[in-house]
Amino acid sequence: MAKNVVLLGPPGAGKGTQAERISKKYGLVQLSTGDMLREAVKKGTPLGMQAKSYMDKGELVPDDVVIGIVREKLKELKNAPGVLFDGFPRTVEQAKALDSMLEEEELSPVMVIQMEVDDSEIIERLTGRRVCEKCGANYHVKFNPPQKNGTCDACGGPLVQRADDNEETVRNRLKVYHQSTSPLVGYYREAGKLRVVGGSGSIDEVFSRIDSILSSV
Ligand code: ADP
Ligand code: ADP
Ligand code: ZN
Repeated sequence: MAKNVVLLGPPGAGKGTQAERISKKYGLVQLSTGDMLREAVKKGTPLGMQAKSYMDKGELVPDDVVIGIVREKLKELKNAPGVLFDGFPRTVEQAKALDSMLEEEELSPVMVIQMEVDDSEIIERLTGRRVCEKCGANYHVKFNPPQKNGTCDACGGPLVQRADDNEETVRNRLKVYHQSTSPLVGYYREAGKLRVVGGSGSIDEVFSRIDSILSSV
């Protein structure tokens, strides 16, 4: 079992949804830079104030900022059984920084699972996404609805729509993905670290594809 895993894929590929299941089964600690940044925005910290304008537009928060928060977090997670990176890295610069941070901390190198989903499917997934305001759990109005409309199954918290899950911002996030993040596919393939899974099909089907990779390494 690889200790440190990166989930790579466009916004809406299902990274958060699968990360929750994978971390539960394999005891990995989930590290989501999107969640960390949203938390900082909510609290109004200097980091949050710096990040907010980029996030609202669907642009990437600058590399040095994101690398800084991951570096801090990794120090806290030094004794974790393994880390599941969700939404990080998103640029080749971030990927290189991650490689050296793991080496410096004497942690295992990452194994990368790329989740492939077509752009047309992404729009429907993201405009229908709802998230729990309290615990961050993910739902979809059609593909993964909660038992009770508008209420989180896990904690009873209210479900809300993210500000950046409107069609215009989603299109920009997809553009940014193709420009800045997709070069990571080549980066990790050349390093021999890449595995690819189809991200379409039911949530259970996608999980079993990922599970069969993780349980075989
Ligand atoms: P998605 O659902 O699109 O995968 P995330 O929750 O991972 O979204 O990220 C939301 C926003 O937070 C991104 O659009 C970007 O502005 C910012 N962000 C998250 N992770 C990173 C990162 N690794 N590098 C730069 N910006 C990031
Ligand atoms: P990401 O973290 O990659 O941005 P999410 O895990 O938040 O993606 O998923 C985006 C939306 O798509 C959510 O509303 C989620 O419930 C839904 N979703 C996730 N996986 C699937 C799937 N296999 N089929 C249909 N919808 C899915
Ligand atoms: Zn909840």
